[in-house]
Amino acid sequence: MRKFEDSYRHKGMRKKLVDIVREKGIGDEKILDAINRIPRHFFLDSAFDEIAYEDKAFPIDADQTISQPYTVAYQTELLEVKPFMRVLEIGTGSAYQASVLAELGAQVFTIERQKKLFDQNKTFDYLRKYPNIKFFYGDGFEGLPTYGPFDRVIITAAAPIVPPKLVEQMKAGGMMVIPVDSGDLQVMKRITKLEGGELRTEVFDRFSFVPMLQGKIE
Ligand code: SAH
Repeated sequence: MRKFEDSYRHKGMRKKLVDIVREKGIGDEKILDAINRIPRHFFLDSAFDEIAYEDKAFPIDADQTISQPYTVAYQTELLEVKPFMRVLEIGTGSAYQASVLAELGAQVFTIERQKKLFDQNKTFDYLRKYPNIKFFYGDGFEGLPTYGPFDRVIITAAAPIVPPKLVEQMKAGGMMVIPVDSGDLQVMKRITKLEGGELRTEVFDRFSFVPMLQGKIE
């Protein structure tokens, strides 16, 4: 069961979370504002009500996780999102990251391979606030060729490789932020497609994500 009441106590806990994320090095006030506005406890079972604003990943259905707020902020900051950009997200999960992107004014296209999570988001009323998010059930390795090309691509699961079809669906001048497997952890990479089509790769910190897997699951 989930609860959809945003109390002063929740708002207070959220402000503290924003301070923690800022102290960890996130400087973009627009992203911090988005975290401050989004009631993260709505995205979790009410059993997590007391701890929903800890800077931690938590379990959601289908053995998946809602990402840690710091990780969400970190990927979003690297993505350099501007209003009206077309952003492709792989791994909708709880739709928390998609909501942060929507708060920044992006046109979000998000894909989830777990039918259960996709269906849950269809009846999650809070998300009606974001007509700028479109939800898809499918395999993120394929991307969304008919909706591309995209200004930005963000992968929120541990990718074994940089999926070639997602690179194809990037605009020239576009960017992808992707955690790529490297032993136990993943290395956050930002790949920029230059005007001529060549790729430039920058390497950032290490994180731990659930795996990006092939195919979709009923
Ligand atoms: N962005 C999410 C993070 C969820 S965890 C959030 O904010 O909560 C990663 C998600 O990626 C999981 O729900 C998992 O099912 C999904 N996933 C893994 N491989 C995928 C693929 N190939 N295509 C689409 N989704 C995938």
